[in-house]
Amino acid sequence: MDFNHRNKIFPPDLGLGGRNNSAVDLGLVSVLCLDERVSGVSLRKISEYCDRLLKVDEIEDWSGAVNGLQVENRIGVSHVVAAVDGSLATVRKAVSLGADLMIVHHGLFWSSKQPWVGRNYELMELLVQSGLALYSSHLPLDVHPRFGNNVLLAKALGLKTLEPFFFDRGRNLGVKAKTRWSVKALVERMTTTLGHPPVVLSGGGDQCRAVGIVTGGAGAELKIAAAEGVDTFITGEGPHWTHALAEELGINVIYGGHYATETFGVRALSEHLAKRFSLKCSFVDHPTGL
Ligand SMILES: [Zn+2]
Repeated sequence: MDFNHRNKIFPPDLGLGGRNNSAVDLGLVSVLCLDERVSGVSLRKISEYCDRLLKVDEIEDWSGAVNGLQVENRIGVSHVVAAVDGSLATVRKAVSLGADLMIVHHGLFWSSKQPWVGRNYELMELLVQSGLALYSSHLPLDVHPRFGNNVLLAKALGLKTLEPFFFDRGRNLGVKAKTRWSVKALVERMTTTLGHPPVVLSGGGDQCRAVGIVTGGAGAELKIAAAEGVDTFITGEGPHWTHALAEELGINVIYGGHYATETFGVRALSEHLAKRFSLKCSFVDHPTGL
C-alpha cells in the first residue's frame, strides 16, 4: 500500500553515483549465461500463475500502477528473487545473484511519461542485457489472504481471528483483530518482528482492544481507520500532521516503517513460487529506513 505513489513519477532519485561499466560487463556475462539457462521454467507460465493467484484483473490499484509482468526475458526462470522496491540498486543485487526473475512490491512504472534516459536507461539496459524479468504486485499483494503484507504482518505479531478492515477502492485493504495487549506489549512485538522500534503516536489509551493494520504508507488516511472502530492503527509511515490528528481522533498510531512492513508479501510469494516451480529463491534486502 502506498498512498504516496499517486503522484510518483518514475524513477525516484536513486542516489547511486555515476554510470559505470557494470551494465556492459554484466551484458557480456548474460550472453555467456544465455545458453546455460534456457532450460528454466517458462516465464509466461509463472507470470500467468501469479496473475491468477493474486487476482490482478479484479483488484483496483492507484492509477498508473502496473500489476503483473513489467519486464520479460527470453531465457526462462530458474532463480527468483524478491525485493520490496524495483530500482537500479535492487536490480544490480539481483543480477549479481544470477537471478532471472525479480518479484517486487513497488514496481518500475507509476506514470505514463517515462523517458528511457539517464538512470532509467541504465536500469532498462541492465534488466534486458542480464535477462532479468520483473514482476510487480502492489495492492493485489497487500490484500491477498495468504501472501498479503497485511495478513502476514498480523500473523507475525501474533494477532488472531483477523477481520476485514479499512474499506477503500471498493474493498477492504487491511485486517483488524481484537486484543488484550497493552500498547507497550504491542510495541515490543513490533520491535521484535520488524527488527527496530516503531514510531508511536500516543493519541489513545494504554490498552489495545482493537488493532487495525494497513502496511506501507497509509498514515494520511487515519480517519478511515478511526471510523472503523480501532483504537490502535499500525501502518508503515505517515505525514507529520498525523500526530495532531491521532490526538484529535483519540487513537494510537504505530509507524513500523514503509519498507519494513512490506517485506512479508514478496518474500512469501517468491518462496511459494520457488517451491511450486522448483526454483532457487533469494531475498534482496535493501532497506530504505523509511
Ligand atoms: Zn508501499
